[in-house]
Amino acid sequence: MFFSWRPYVSVAQKRANAERHLARMKKKGMVVQPITIEGRTIARSFWGASWCAHLEQFSDYDNRLPRGRTYVRNGSVCHLEIKKCEVHAIVSGSELYHIKITIEPLGSGKWAALKRQCAGQIGSLLDLLQGKLSDGVMAVVTDKDDGLFPHPKQIKMKCDCPDSARMCKHLAAVLYGVGSRLDHAPELLFLLRGVDHGELIATKADALTAVAAKAGKGRRLKGADLSDVFGVDIAQEAPEQPAAPPARAAKRGKAAARPVPPARPPRKVAPVPPVAPAVAQRTSKPPAPKAPRVPRRSSPPSQATTSHRG
Ligand SMILES: [Zn+2]
Repeated sequence: MFFSWRPYVSVAQKRANAERHLARMKKKGMVVQPITIEGRTIARSFWGASWCAHLEQFSDYDNRLPRGRTYVRNGSVCHLEIKKCEVHAIVSGSELYHIKITIEPLGSGKWAALKRQCAGQIGSLLDLLQGKLSDGVMAVVTDKDDGLFPHPKQIKMKCDCPDSARMCKHLAAVLYGVGSRLDHAPELLFLLRGVDHGELIATKADALTAVAAKAGKGRRLKGADLSDVFGVDIAQEAPEQPAAPPARAAKRGKAAARPVPPARPPRKVAPVPPVAPAVAQRTSKPPAPKAPRVPRRSSPPSQATTSHRG
């Protein structure tokens, strides 16, 4: 005798329920931020794809994470908000489930080491966020143990669904959803790790340091502005990058887990408001009236000093 302890709910019905629920929440003033995936690729940008590839390389996750791919692709992550060291999300399943993921802040020692290794090698805030980085810097920031991405031990996850598995499919979907969100708002990775990305630019060993740090803190771009900026570039670059999908990378094994650098930098950079002197320097208008004269940037040192590869 067949006994179904939970009535079958069609996908369409679930979707309708979710939409009704979210409409109520919107009415109460909540800003709903759904994850929408176009096509099969969950994350296309350097930061988004690197996030997914990073998590896929841990054995703690490898047999649970894939369950989240279908979920995130079919729009089940109805809401995902990244705050300092936290992710809050709502995922639609048989019901709507509430998720909280807490991530330990990046240790101050690790952050200092990252800044030291990237010092003077990242041209601007825009380059950093668009992932236009040298191979050396990419290797440093994506390092499995000492890079910017969290280790599974630093990630605590909670979902209010009845699935007792340590990582249910809703949690897995949200982890992928974070990767997708980083495509549009890469600065949120730094917020998630509790560090100020402006400091990665500011550590150039010249007179720019103090000014850049100040400007980076005071005039950080809002997520929406960045989405506007990146919407253009990232969307255009995407088709040139067939090797990027992290979902497939995982299946091919460890060699493929290394994040794929973005396709060649776009020739035109979308207009961006001056953020820090490092950025303003590249535009035609002089930034601030009293910016100190910046010594001409010499080409970054060779990787001889970077013993930090893989
Ligand atoms: Zn769950």
